[in-house]
Amino acid sequence: MLAVGLGGVWPASAGGPLIVGGTLGPAGVPFTWDTSLGEFPYRTDGGKLGVMDNAAANARVAAMFQVWEDVPTASIGFNNAGPILSTGTFSDGNVNKVGEFNAVSDSCEAATQSPIVYDGNGKLFDSLFGENSGVIGLAGPCALNDEGRILSALVALNGDFRDGDAVGEYEVTDNEFDAVFIHEFGHLFGLGHSQANLNCLTGSPAGCSSFSDDAFGLPTMFPFLLSALEETPGVNPARTLSQDDIAWVSKLYPDAGFSSSFGVISGTILFGDGLTPAQGVNVIARQVDDLGTPENEGRRVVVSAVSGYLFTGTPGQSVTGTNPPSPFGSRNPLLIGIFEIPVPPGSYRVEVESVLCLNPVRIDLVPKQLAAVRAFLALSEAESLAAANKRVANILKQAAAKGESFANAEHRELKEPAERELLSALRSVSQKAKPLFDQGDYTGYLKAFALLKSPVDRFFESVMVMVDDENVRRSRLALLTDLRTEMNRFADISKLAA
Ligand SMILES: [Zn+2]
Repeated sequence: MLAVGLGGVWPASAGGPLIVGGTLGPAGVPFTWDTSLGEFPYRTDGGKLGVMDNAAANARVAAMFQVWEDVPTASIGFNNAGPILSTGTFSDGNVNKVGEFNAVSDSCEAATQSPIVYDGNGKLFDSLFGENSGVIGLAGPCALNDEGRILSALVALNGDFRDGDAVGEYEVTDNEFDAVFIHEFGHLFGLGHSQANLNCLTGSPAGCSSFSDDAFGLPTMFPFLLSALEETPGVNPARTLSQDDIAWVSKLYPDAGFSSSFGVISGTILFGDGLTPAQGVNVIARQVDDLGTPENEGRRVVVSAVSGYLFTGTPGQSVTGTNPPSPFGSRNPLLIGIFEIPVPPGSYRVEVESVLCLNPVRIDLVPKQLAAVRAFLALSEAESLAAANKRVANILKQAAAKGESFANAEHRELKEPAERELLSALRSVSQKAKPLFDQGDYTGYLKAFALLKSPVDRFFESVMVMVDDENVRRSRLALLTDLRTEMNRFADISKLAA
């Protein structure tokens, strides 16, 4: 499974609104489009978008805005107000150069128009983010007013991901590309990212497979597009809105039915002292599973928020420390650590989701770690190391199921040349890799393990793990446990095996 970053132009937190008023706008109130002005008017690029000609791209945009319009408890509409208006150096109707992009961005910031930019072949994204950066789209409001309103917004979509060839960026499916449109349009009208069912990204504690309840509950506003994952046959989970998306668009743009269709779970997240409120914790409300249905509602009916999301992340409080000054977020200390989660009727269990798999890691490190995984996958050793990891994971799982205990086994029982070789190679690689990991050099950390390919291959060629001699067996299992722990500090490499 590949994950690709869905860029936003705002430094987004997770869960709920993208931008909250602070010194700009009403404090503690999310920025939204003023629906009393009617539908949100967007303007479209005149070029093609990957395999789509202009008419097809425009039809696609309208259809994906419609996905948000169709939410029964929300009231926001969108309309195509025509082609992107000429402005500055942009006059040929087709935004495909950086200068043209900057010109239309400027007019968006002046609240003149809300452009939907089609990067036909990915060259514009290459210029903006570096060649084949993996950024498939970007979006966000451009102009805000002090009444808490979004006046204009910009979306850009990278056609290189759907141009019929894997040259440059790899290809996504039509359904996955649809999902990107829907996600970016969510940012356009003020939705931030949502993090729920994170195991779909990390594969831990248990993975998220196609057609699973986890996939069904995965938000379209999840920060990454997970390819090769299906909610229903042929349909990416991000292609249809999850309960999280529906709840948040409805809370920001409630229609008459919202108050009778949703309740709000609220509270404060505290540190272990039971007194100090904690900012930035991902809080998830999961509906209690209805045992009368085959589905697990606990994974399907899921809505998340981040504690303290209405409060600013800037100086003035001791919890998040000192951050660059921001005009956003309330300065009212009573909002520190507070969360509100809109949910449909039912009983809920509220939990805090640990971020990433084997060690809790900050979500803002994820893009860097995914880049490291991509760099690792490009190595010639990656495939066989991933396969070996999968084999190791299976051996350890089966051993654990048989009640084997091997956590503190001694290595002195390792006598075969291939196992001694693997042990010493693992020790020397780990010594080099651990400091790289601690410094945040995730690519260097993962790449260090490429040296283990030959010793691992030889180990599996000549050593049988599950032998009768208990001491030898436990020592071998302990060696494999060490291998697995050292290699999988943030990503489960075995999950990368084909
Ligand atoms: Zn996004």
